[in-house]
Amino acid sequence: MEGIESIIRYFSNKYDLRVKISGREFSLLCPFHLDTKNSLFVNSENGLWHCFGCGLGGNFSRLVSFLNKKFGENVSLNGQKFFYIGDDSKVNNKWKTKVSDNEVFGSLISYFLSRNFSDDDYYKIINYFGVWSSRDRIVFPVWDFDVSYVGKFYRLLNEKGYFFEKNFLASKFFYGEWLLSRDSDMVVLVEGAFDLFRVYLAGFNCLASLNFSKASLKLARLSKLGCIKRIVLFFDSDIWDKPVVDKWRYYGDKFFGDVREVHLESGDPADYSVEDIKGFLSDVK
Ligand SMILES: [Zn+2]
Repeated sequence: MEGIESIIRYFSNKYDLRVKISGREFSLLCPFHLDTKNSLFVNSENGLWHCFGCGLGGNFSRLVSFLNKKFGENVSLNGQKFFYIGDDSKVNNKWKTKVSDNEVFGSLISYFLSRNFSDDDYYKIINYFGVWSSRDRIVFPVWDFDVSYVGKFYRLLNEKGYFFEKNFLASKFFYGEWLLSRDSDMVVLVEGAFDLFRVYLAGFNCLASLNFSKASLKLARLSKLGCIKRIVLFFDSDIWDKPVVDKWRYYGDKFFGDVREVHLESGDPADYSVEDIKGFLSDVK
């Protein structure tokens, strides 16, 4: 199968996504959240898609990859292989303008800039991760390995730490599961969402534990994918002497047999630049 248009039609017919076509733009029921009103827009002219319901978006190879994961299919776009860590091309300017004019996203950018993410990083992150804001909080939607939506967590713009939507099981899911590439056999495990953003932008497969509970459950789910052979613990510098880390070592060894550790002298991975992160992780690559 070739071309985004025929791929969209294929998935829409088979899974009842009710595609509507208007010129070069398609809208369909978003399969990545509980959608009732064709929130997902695909523009075959500029090569991008975005869901205005849940916030997921990106380029076409990402969309096809997500659809494949979601429905267990193996459709290919012009025979390309999908390795999308850090691949994404330039963020389209038209889309940037659209986003910065929108108050939900526009208000977030100063926060990201204050944490030393570049303007371009910011647009990538809100597009890849579907992050948005509401009043004084940043909202992080979460999908699992199969791109099924599992809930949200939040962070207040003025405070450290996360809080979780009632029905979201932070002890079961990693943050970032839906973006995991099956083409890499290594995954870097970090603590928080901003650590994950930084490592992801540096081009590594990465997941955030969000909290340290249930190492056995989380790592068992990860090992069931079958593609990961090596994990790298890349936690905040103040955590290593705490007993809970031993569980991550123990179950990491049990399920993968290959656990590396990268220790920072101070701070969190999010405190460092993308270039620094590449340096820290170069030995385990
Ligand atoms: Zn959606």
